Amino acid sequence: MNAIPMIDPFGRHVTYLRVSVTDRCDFRCVYCMSENMTFLPKKDLLSLEELDRVCSAFVRKGVRKLRITGGEPLVRKNIMSLFKSLSRHLRSGTLDELTVTTNGSQLAKYATELRDYGVERVNISLDTLNPGRFRAITRWGDIADVHAGIDAAEKAGLRIKINAVALKGVNEDEIEHLMRFCHDRGMDLTLIETMPLGEIEADRTDQYLPLSLVRARLAEKFTLIENDYRTGGPARYLTVKETGGRLGLITPLTHNFCESCNRVRLTCTGTLYMCLGQEDAVDLRDAVRASSADDLLDATIDRGILRKPKGHDFIIDRQTKKPAVSRHMSVTGG
Ligand code: SAM
Ligand code: SF4
Repeated sequence: MNAIPMIDPFGRHVTYLRVSVTDRCDFRCVYCMSENMTFLPKKDLLSLEELDRVCSAFVRKGVRKLRITGGEPLVRKNIMSLFKSLSRHLRSGTLDELTVTTNGSQLAKYATELRDYGVERVNISLDTLNPGRFRAITRWGDIADVHAGIDAAEKAGLRIKINAVALKGVNEDEIEHLMRFCHDRGMDLTLIETMPLGEIEADRTDQYLPLSLVRARLAEKFTLIENDYRTGGPARYLTVKETGGRLGLITPLTHNFCESCNRVRLTCTGTLYMCLGQEDAVDLRDAVRASSADDLLDATIDRGILRKPKGHDFIIDRQTKKPAVSRHMSVTGG
């Protein structure tokens, strides 16, 4: 078996795999999807067994952290069986962390089981605390379900990070409130800039709120202390002296986060993207289906890693109307 560690042409060790297990979702967030999305035919999806096989190949090749995402990962049928089977890598010590990014709508149902399968932290997306606004942003979501999900996760002993996309004119007046809500409950908050991924109805220049501006506004009221806390993800963290909580900033547009990128992304159809912001990819589904031995799969992964680009070319401005890449975040997995 090929257990060559994955080192890209720029010397970066790939130790983090994000896996989108479905492109489907029970929400239609305005910055992520259009209201009438066409989803992939089910036959194109990797089965849960195939997803396990691909994830396990990555673990064998040095991935220490797996994040399950989507679409909404918890709407995929029988998804707990994937967490259950992947938990063997935690028990054997070959994997450090198994995590999930979710919109929280199904978390009340699954929080305890996730904890049982070794998940210790979850990222929950919540852009606003205002029920009407929440409905407007997610189109189909009910904030009560997310609150129930947060409560259940807390009760199950999961550490929680809230992710919020900073949206101009939508939640920019609420960032302080959101931060206090999170920090009061011992949850980190990470703010994300909108990224130009996939066609949506809205104009992204209208949604884009630079986090440099959000940070400057917060700094008028709070003492923001730089710290070197890292989760292996792209966020940079600040400690807020007054709340004692942590504030993460993901700034793909105002700050290039590529230099230390240790991640690759697998879609639910088995396509491996070496960069969120580039089109280049290799197909692992054919490799998985061609043989029950893993040689071809391993060799295809190696081929992809050797093509990992230096970084993305995101730009959001009035001249550039087309998204940087045509696939939605829900395909590649946020
Ligand atoms: N459905 C799950 C959720 O919402 O957490 C997981 C998938 S979602 C694609 C992952 C994260 O990506 C969410 O926090 C979401 O807010 C964020 N996201 C989606 N589209 C985005 C975009 N165009 N720019 C920036 N963040 C985006
Ligand atoms: Fe669904 Fe997450 Fe995209 Fe919202 S951000 S539409 S919850 S995949």
